[in-house]
Amino acid sequence: GCSSSEENTETIVPGTNSGFPPFEYTEDGELVGFDIELAETVIDRAGYEVGEWQDIAFESLIPSVLDGDIDLIAAGMTIGPDRQEQIDFTDPYWESSQAVLVQEGGEFQPESVEDLEGVRVGAQGGTTGEGEAEALVEDGLVAEDDLRRYDNYTLAAQDLENGNVDAVIVDEPVAGSFAGDRAVAIAFVIDTGEQFGMGMRPDDERLSDLNDALAELRDDGTYDELVGEWFE
Ligand code: GLN
Repeated sequence: GCSSSEENTETIVPGTNSGFPPFEYTEDGELVGFDIELAETVIDRAGYEVGEWQDIAFESLIPSVLDGDIDLIAAGMTIGPDRQEQIDFTDPYWESSQAVLVQEGGEFQPESVEDLEGVRVGAQGGTTGEGEAEALVEDGLVAEDDLRRYDNYTLAAQDLENGNVDAVIVDEPVAGSFAGDRAVAIAFVIDTGEQFGMGMRPDDERLSDLNDALAELRDDGTYDELVGEWFE
């Protein structure tokens, strides 16, 4: 038959949060990026249909996958214990640390977290970068009011360019992308050694098929091709 529940097991609806180049961003109104292409290639290789992408707030991604509004999170999401209590992750597909971005050529050129004392620090809400910024508040280096939380990292980078915030803590490859396009530069890196995975409901048995497909793409060179396409 063709009951909708059977159809649902064939289609994987992916969700992301754009504004995170080169992993996911919009170009001429279209959602593009490494995560977009990798997720579509993995879903396809695993033998499933790619559903319609949902571009939603980063903090809504886990609730949305748990509610079944989406089936897969592809959003540069770091695999971590708090998140693993709620969702399952694919095998890691990327490694990253956090970079501290400042205005390019500006007077403020911090070299370590201690140098962030007394400044305004920005991050996207619900991210590991926000966690690093919160640690600065807990350590008494940054005032609670000076922690700026943004809906997406592109807004944070814009505010940094405009001088409304002094430093932005963001995943290193994304910081590199902003530094290539905007008057911002990486001041230093916080070595967090994070790994990105794609997220699914814990009871979704399709996860192992996606892991098999991911391993295949690594073996046959497709993964490297995609990296070459989206990262200089
Ligand atoms: N890797 C970071 C995290 O998982 C940021 C992800 C993002 O902003 N899309 O929290």
